[in-house]
Amino acid sequence: MANTKTRVPAADREYFAAFLDLRGKPGVVVGGGPIAANKVETLMRSGARVTVIAPELCAQLTELTLVGALRHEPKRFQPGDLVGAEIVIAATDDPAINESVASAARALKIPVNVADNSALSSFIMPSVIDRAPIQIAISTAGASPVLARKLRSLIETMVPFTYGRLAALAKRFRAASKNRYPDIEARRRFWEGVVDGPIGDMVLAGDESSAIKAVERELSSAPQSETPAGMVYLVGGGPGRPDLLTLRALRVMQFANVVLYDHLVSPAILDLARREAERIYVGKERDRHALPQQDINSLMVKLAKEGKRVVRLKGGDPFVFGRGGEEIETLAANAVPFEVVPGITAAVGAGAYAGIPLTHRDYAQSCVLVTGHLKDGSIDLDWPALARARQTVAVYMGVKGLGIVCGKLIEHGLPEDTPAALIEQATLPEQRVVTGSLRSLPGLAERAGMKPPALLIVGEVVRLRDKLAWYSAGAIGAGEPEIKARA
Ligand code: SAH
Repeated sequence: MANTKTRVPAADREYFAAFLDLRGKPGVVVGGGPIAANKVETLMRSGARVTVIAPELCAQLTELTLVGALRHEPKRFQPGDLVGAEIVIAATDDPAINESVASAARALKIPVNVADNSALSSFIMPSVIDRAPIQIAISTAGASPVLARKLRSLIETMVPFTYGRLAALAKRFRAASKNRYPDIEARRRFWEGVVDGPIGDMVLAGDESSAIKAVERELSSAPQSETPAGMVYLVGGGPGRPDLLTLRALRVMQFANVVLYDHLVSPAILDLARREAERIYVGKERDRHALPQQDINSLMVKLAKEGKRVVRLKGGDPFVFGRGGEEIETLAANAVPFEVVPGITAAVGAGAYAGIPLTHRDYAQSCVLVTGHLKDGSIDLDWPALARARQTVAVYMGVKGLGIVCGKLIEHGLPEDTPAALIEQATLPEQRVVTGSLRSLPGLAERAGMKPPALLIVGEVVRLRDKLAWYSAGAIGAGEPEIKARA
């Protein structure tokens, strides 16, 4: 009696997905235009020996022929041309030729693809995300190239570019891992630990030497139960707008166990961290440090030693007035592995969103970043170096000391009417910009009630805002109108 429990798979897929080994195999492409060139390139990248049949070639194919990478038969297609080929692609602009290529290939039982014609093709070519040696192939069964492209860009952003390096690591230690773990289950667990753990993180972060050492250590030592080392990611969260985060920042936030953040990090950005991640506010509001720097440093070391993936999220860029250097010195001293993810610094974000280029061939050949942080009521800066023509000065933490900064710049030789702008909450919908001159700006800013975080930009480039201002999010709401005055 037939076993009624056997489930006969339904033929519900239009195509069989497979990867062909074409290294050294002969392939024929019929057609000599740019579309053919595309297909030729794809075949060549898989190692096929390609012959192109076409009376004429486009520039790209001519070049490949000249350097000997390609064989060219300068003629019209004849069915006999396909004998011996293991793969055939028709990419001419003549439907009749494409059709005869397809039927000749089918008669010879050679897999054939006709560009943009799945009905004539015995195989179709997927959209490929390349993370060599990993390839991710997408097919919509020819239904929608637009959808395939969309999916592709989604996956492109989600899979780190360095993902293929994990496969390279696995390859390098394949034999050694087999020796160490003859049992296939144990081996699988070992590799899961590598890929999902700190070693995988090191590879993705680009610290391959540490990863190699770590795998060697694990493979040579007896199985140990001690907790694996964690890792700290010092991440620049940018000036505030979530979509100005780097892809890398987003990725590490999404696998964090703990996020330590300070007040410059907006809630919208914090929301992007992994839902389960513990969030710890470590403060750093001006004059109101929620946690002393040393405590932040030792907390990061402690969490990492517990095996956690710690994301230290900072506003802007961690290495620009962010004490990032100090924080990772402590990590390095405690042998905690770390990665630094740069972010868009406030000056760059504020310049862009206020329509003020920080350099410009006509107005400023250099740009200096300084902090206007007050210490005992004064600001210790190299004023003569700042008060220079054809230079932009971007002042961080410049609200409280605004009057002092503007006064000192005038005192050291900058004209009183040098344009200056104060940009509050740059890049956010709440952004406000006050422009004026070194003389007028402090008063205007005070009247407007400008508060941190705000960035001061001084220099002729500020004039360009009149022409280049483009960002007006928040204009629809009932916000304050912009305050603006010329000296
Ligand atoms: N590491 C940060 C700077 C930290 S210092 C970076 O690279 O941007 C803090 C100062 O940065 C603030 O006082 C302010 O001057 C500036 N800042 C940060 N975010 C800002 C924003 N969205 N708009 C204006 N200024 C900002």
